[in-house]
Parts: sequence; C-alpha cells; structure tokens
Amino acid sequence: MRYQLLALVLLPLLLLAFTVVLVSARWSTDYTYQQLFTKVNTDLRVARDSFQRIQNEQQRVVQALADNAMLIELFRHPDRLNAWVNTQKSLNRFDYLMLLNHNGTQRMTDAGWQPHELVASPLTDRALSTLSAPGGATGIQILSADAWQEGNLLIPSQVVFPLIDTLRAVPTERSAEDRAMVIRSVQSVNNMAGERIALLEGATLLNRDFAFVDRIRDLVYGPGSLAPGSIGTVTVFLDDVRITTNVPSSDATRALGTRVSKEVREAVLDRGESWTDRAFVVNDWYISAYEPITDVFGQRVGMLYAGYLEAPFRQDLQKTIALLSGLVLLGCLLAIVVATVAARSIFRPIESLTSVIRATAAGKRKRVGAIKSANEICELSAQFDAMLDTLEEQRHEIEQGAEYLEQTVQSRTQELRQQNQRLTDSLTLLRQTRLQLETAEKLAALGELTAGVAHEINNPTAVILGNMDILIAEIGEDRADVQTEIDLIIQQVYRIRSITHRLVQYSRAESEPMSPVAQPVSLPELVGDTVNLIRHDFFDNSVQILEEHQCTQEAFVDPHELQQVLVNLVRNAVEALKDVPRSGLVVIKTEDREEREVAIVVSDNGAGIEPAHRARLFDPFFTTGKERGTGLGLSVSYGIVHRHGGRIDVQSEFGMGSTFTVVLPVVVDAQVDSLLSPVGNALA
Ligand code: ADP
Repeated sequence: MRYQLLALVLLPLLLLAFTVVLVSARWSTDYTYQQLFTKVNTDLRVARDSFQRIQNEQQRVVQALADNAMLIELFRHPDRLNAWVNTQKSLNRFDYLMLLNHNGTQRMTDAGWQPHELVASPLTDRALSTLSAPGGATGIQILSADAWQEGNLLIPSQVVFPLIDTLRAVPTERSAEDRAMVIRSVQSVNNMAGERIALLEGATLLNRDFAFVDRIRDLVYGPGSLAPGSIGTVTVFLDDVRITTNVPSSDATRALGTRVSKEVREAVLDRGESWTDRAFVVNDWYISAYEPITDVFGQRVGMLYAGYLEAPFRQDLQKTIALLSGLVLLGCLLAIVVATVAARSIFRPIESLTSVIRATAAGKRKRVGAIKSANEICELSAQFDAMLDTLEEQRHEIEQGAEYLEQTVQSRTQELRQQNQRLTDSLTLLRQTRLQLETAEKLAALGELTAGVAHEINNPTAVILGNMDILIAEIGEDRADVQTEIDLIIQQVYRIRSITHRLVQYSRAESEPMSPVAQPVSLPELVGDTVNLIRHDFFDNSVQILEEHQCTQEAFVDPHELQQVLVNLVRNAVEALKDVPRSGLVVIKTEDREEREVAIVVSDNGAGIEPAHRARLFDPFFTTGKERGTGLGLSVSYGIVHRHGGRIDVQSEFGMGSTFTVVLPVVVDAQVDSLLSPVGNALA
C-alpha cells in the first residue's frame, strides 16, 4: 500500500517533471533558434547595408573623379590623361578604371585613344542618355569571360577558380567559374559648359575579394556579438558559387568554389525569397540567412549570405537543458526521499495495525500501542486497541459463562443421574419388596396352613408309630416275614414326620421375627464346618467343591439355621450337576459387602434354572426333583434368611449354572452388648 501510494504521489510528479523538462527543452530550443534566426536576419541586413554602402562609396569616388577639375584640365594635355587614370586606379583600388570618349567608342590607353566596345548595361545607357547633365550610376554586373577578356579588363588569375563538388548542390557540368561579378560604376565627365566630354568607368571585382567579405564580417560580427567558439561568416555568391567567402573549407582554407544547396538555390535564386534556417554549410551546421543579389538589369545573379556556426549555441542550449533536467531530477529525487520518509511515518501505524490484525487472526494477543503522531490512523489504532480489549473481555466473560454453564450442566446431569439411579433403585426395591411381600403373604398364609396340617399329621403319625411298636411286639418272632413292610411303614412314617417337622420349621420361620439363639458367626468357619459335615454325603469324584473366603466380619445369625440353609443350597447345587455331562464344580465363597453386610455365594456349573421357573423357586413344594425333592428347601431357607434380616438372590443361566447369594447383616455393637448383658437385655 505504501508503494502504491508513493507511486500515486510520485508518478504525476515525475510525469509533470518530465513534461516540464520536455516542454522547457522544446520551448528553449524554439526560443533560442527563433532568437538565433532573428539575429542572423539582422546580421544579413547589416551585411546588405555594408554591401550597399561599399557600392555607394565607389559611386561617390567615381563621381568625384569625374568631377575633378584636374581631369577636365588634362583634356588639354591628352598625353597625360592615361597616367592620371592609372594613378587614380591604384590610389582608389579599382580593379580597372577606364577613361572613354563621350560616347564610349574609344578608350584612353598607353597608346592614346583606342577603339573600345562598351559593355552594355543600364549603367552605360544612363550615362549616355543625357548630353549635358552629369550622370552616372553604380551597380552589380556580371561580366562574361569574353567581356572581361576583351579589353584585358581583369587579371584572369583573380577571376577564374575551379568549382568544387559540393553535396546537396544542384549538379553542374562546369568545372570552373570564369565569370566575374563586379561593382561597376559608369560616370559621365562634363566640361565647364556642362557638356559630356568623356565617360569614366571603374569597377571592383568581387571574385576572390576576401578583404571585401572580411570587412563586412568584421562589421557584422564585431567582438562580443557571438557566443565564444562560434565564427561569423559572410559570403557572396555568383549564381550558386561562392566567389568570395570566409566560410572555412575542410582544409581550413576558404571554401571558394563550393556551391550552395539545391534547396537554398531554389528558394533564393529561383523564387527570389530570403532564406533563414539551419544550413549545412560546407562541413558544419550554420545558422544561415541568404538573400538574392540583383544586378543592374534587375536579374537575380547571386546571393549574399551571413551566418554563424551553430555548434557553440547548440552546446550552450544543451548545457542549459541538461542543467534544467538535472535540477528537475534532483527536485524529483528530493521529493521521492521526502515522500518516502514521510510515507514511512504515515505507514508505520498502518503496518503495526496490520501485524496486530494478523496476530489476532492467528490467535495471539498483540496491541498497536501508543503512537506519537496525532492523525486519523493513530486514532484508528487507539480505537482498534480498545476494541480488541473489549473483545477480549467479552470473550473472557463468555468463556467464564460457558465454563459455569458446563459445570452447572454437569452437576445437574450428575444430580439427575443420581436421582435417576435412586429412582431405579427405589423401583427395584419396590419391585423386590412387592415380590417379597407377595411371597411373604403367601408364605405366611401357607405357614399358618402348614403349621395346622403338620400338627394334625404329627398326632396320627405318633399314633401310627406307637401302634407299630405294639404291632411289632404282638407279632413277635413272626415278624421276620413282614419285617420289610414294617421297616417301610416306619421309614415312611419318619419321612412324614420329617416333612411335618420341616413344615413346622417353615411356618415358624414366617411367624418368628428372629431366632432366639442368634449370635455372631464367622461365615468362613461355618462354611468350613458344614462342608466337612456333608462332604461324604454329597460329593463323589465327579463333583469338586471349592471354598474361597474373603469375609472378615461376622454375621448375626443362628448358626444351626444358617447351616441348614447352606446344606439346602449345596444339596440343590449337587442335584443340578447330576444330569450334566461335564465334571461338576461347586464354589462356595464368603465375602464382605458394602453397607455392613456379608454374603455366602454358592455357585455351580450345573443345569441352571429355566426362566419360567424363576418366579416360583421359593414357593413351598415347588420342585423339579424326581425322587427326593420336597420343594421345601428353598422356601424354608428363604424364611430363615429373611427372619435374620437378610435376603437370597439368584442368578442363573439355563444350561450353564446357577449362583445363589445369601446376604446377611453383620453384627452391630448393640447386638454384641445385648449378648454380653443378658440381664439388662431381659429387663429391657
Ligand atoms: P427340592 O430340592 O426338594 O426340589 P427346593 O425348594 O430346595 O426343593 O428346590 C426347589 C427347586 O428349585 C428344585 O426342585 C430345583 O428345580 C430348583 N433348584 C434349586 N436349586 C437349584 C440349583 N442349584 N440348580 C438348579 N435348580 C435348582
């Protein structure tokens, strides 16, 4: 973002700077060149004026000579005329000076008046036009080679020079320039009466007249008028050929005989325009101005040129542009540095804000912190920090709330579970109690009934036994024949008595709350004694009996009755093992239970109990035993255990085995105390 913003700020600046440099460069160039062109035009004008002034000067000299009284006087001594003319020629630096007769047909020579053919021009016309009034004129005239050779007017070596091939000039087949460009003056010489007595003709040759162009140059390009290193040049062209110039050629001499470019020639000579521009003159670029030179006939016969070397000006301009560019570039660099430094101070808060956002997203705790400057971003940072603090507080509160909620839910769930457990327990207890109640009621009723029946049966059996004794005594020795029957009767009667005895026991178990001979009994001891007693009766090699004793507390029971219960359970276990093909195992365990209880657990791997029989197990006379079963074992055991405040639980898997658990309360201190102080107990 920093770089984007920097680019956003700096790009227009750079663009502007670039444009300023470009426009300035362009403008400076245009302006400079405009100035240069204006100057060169002025220079050309000065050159033209000088050129004109030189012509006027010549005209004045010729006129002064024509008006010279000495000349008129000398006409009386014609032999001295020629000497005078020659003297004036060299005095006034004419290339030629001729004295002609009044109509120009004769010329004064060393040999006196000689025929002469006048080179025709408006100048001569004008001088000859008036007979009396003095007249004359000066102008540029081109003399052909014939014309100047005719009268030996000019020295050939001064006129003729070779043409040099020049790039971009109009091609030519000529190899040398033999025409002469002269400033020609023709003046009539009048006598005192005002009559024309002669013509005076003088001329200055411009071909090779370097002094002439140097003079003009010195006038135009005086000291300090040009940039250092530049050179000013003036040239006179005959047609398109440089006949006198101070433009240097490639070999450092004057560029005589070189020609102007086609473009300039067409503009100036053909179309008669002035031409001002940069021009490649001979071998370098010049700021140049050209204008046509018109001869006495009004024809464009040549050109006057003024110009100066462009390079120093161009270098100056380039230096100025470079300086300007450098300054602008420096300004831009300065702006970039300032903007970068300033941007850093602006963006530092944004960067720290970004890093805080990243850290927050990654779950770390970080803050922007205090920032010195006071702008909107700093305010934003402070607000952001405050917002993060608030968020953190809120999150903390939510977490605490969630934790509290979870704890509450857990405790409620725990409570509910406990309630539920209690409810289940209560239901189980209720169900058991109901069953026990039902059983108890049933047993109580049966108890009463059986007690009555047993009592009623006991009496006849006593009578039977008594009578059997009498009968045996009566029969005496003969009883051997019926001894078997007698034994059978007595056996069966005892069996009846055993049943009635157990019936009574059963009924008493239901009616008496607690055996009067209850005492603290060690279950391992009791189990050990009982197993020893019955071992031979019940167990053969096919059945194994195991004892495991973990019980440490004593139960408060009648040991004989509990022994009876144990015998019943073991007998049933052995019975259940009879028809089972596997080797039988009976395990008797004693163990401590929670809530001040102890237990005897009798397990076997016998036939197990059919689910349909489960509910009826403790019913009196319920038996599946075929021979000896009375169906009273469990019901009597139940009664005994119940009377001692205990219970019998059954777990069985049909076909796999059964486990009977007798749970009994342990001895409490009060019970021991009552045993130790029977007197107090009896009194209470
Ligand atoms: P009896 O033993 O005279 O049949 P009980 O009251 O002792 O009378 O037993 C009742 C019935 O309970 C038995 O006939 C037997 O079907 C069943 N029973 C008792 N104990 C077991 C046991 N350990 N395995 C299988 N069935 C048993």
